[in-house]
Amino acid sequence: MEKVILLRFGEIYLKGKNRFSFEKQLLDNIKYALRGIKFSLNRMHGRYLIENLADEDVVEVETRVRRVFGLISYSVALKLPTDIEVLKKECLAYLPENGTFRFTVNRADKKFPLNSQQIAMALGGAALTYAPKLKVDLFDPDKEIFVDVREEGYTFLFADKVSCVGGMPVGSSGKGIVLLSGGIDSPVAAYRMAKRGLKMCGVHFHSFPYTSPMAKQKVVDLAKILSTYQGSFDLYVVSFTEIQRAIHENCPEEYMITIMRRIMMRIAERLAKEKGCGSITTGESLAQVASQTQESILVTNETVETLPVFRPLIGMDKEEIIATAREIGTFDKSIEPYEDCCTVFLPKYPVIKPKPELIRAAETKIDYEKLIEEAMKDVEVIRL
Ligand code: ATP
Ligand code: MG
Repeated sequence: MEKVILLRFGEIYLKGKNRFSFEKQLLDNIKYALRGIKFSLNRMHGRYLIENLADEDVVEVETRVRRVFGLISYSVALKLPTDIEVLKKECLAYLPENGTFRFTVNRADKKFPLNSQQIAMALGGAALTYAPKLKVDLFDPDKEIFVDVREEGYTFLFADKVSCVGGMPVGSSGKGIVLLSGGIDSPVAAYRMAKRGLKMCGVHFHSFPYTSPMAKQKVVDLAKILSTYQGSFDLYVVSFTEIQRAIHENCPEEYMITIMRRIMMRIAERLAKEKGCGSITTGESLAQVASQTQESILVTNETVETLPVFRPLIGMDKEEIIATAREIGTFDKSIEPYEDCCTVFLPKYPVIKPKPELIRAAETKIDYEKLIEEAMKDVEVIRL
């Protein structure tokens, strides 16, 4: 008697011309997520089946497949010979302690002498003999037990469908880069875009020695958590110290953050091009802080000329973002109290509605092209 795992994927995106590449991507991603574990993976009637798995690996496989984008749910099932006496015996372990149940039978093997309804009746009879207090409820049972009679002479028996993360297979939408700070928002933004099929990498700006190595390590740890949803995660760490110093010394104080943001975006765009990314993602949410007003976003956005900028959190409340951060496991790391480079030389009154022409003029006080070139020379690559 073998434990197997049935994996279900969304049908919607598998309908079109891209079906083949989506499926291939999903299969590759499942295999990669399960690296180090022995198993075989087969496609079976609109599902995947993980077989030949050691019993002690089942829980680990469950943990990992729950995080594979593109999968909707899974069930741990028993693979049994299609023998009604065996099924009658094994189904008892799935019954609830009290309340109601039903058997839902799907019979692909039309040669099996009992039809679906007869199988359900036989199993239901065995169940009620074993536990006479239970009742059958076909419409709203406490426990639904599934019996899938396959053509190949075996039957799957399972009860629970456990939800996976859903979304699109990572990689099926291409590659993207996220501006990853140590805060709560940007890891959530990265997660949301990975869920739509983008293989994310990240750029982090740090201002050593104004920001500590711990602040950088925190971002590395966040990237590590994100890697568990997409197999791996490349983090590019860019030193922002000289750029910040130059802005601080030469530009009006209240424009500091706006100009910083513009330069961050320019660097992100260059890195994106270099690494084959088709978009830039940020963790901005409208009205959360001064740099996230319509006017501020307009001024930051205009520096990016050749790529779309995605802001998946733009319409979310902080509470909603926090709920997702908790769900995906980044929240506790994000609230560790290390400073971000944005807090260095922080102006008392940052401009809330920057005027593009004033910012552009202020920015010419520094040679940002040269500063960007310098920063790009020394990008640290951390592969997670
Ligand atoms: P977060 O929680 O993501 O840090 P935040 O609320 O602190 O966001 P801001 O500091 O205004 O917001 O940053 C807005 C966005 O700019 C971030 O979500 C992130 O995408 C990017 N960003 C900010 N600081 C950095 C940094 N040091 N390195 C890389 N990206 C950054
Ligand atoms: Mg931040």
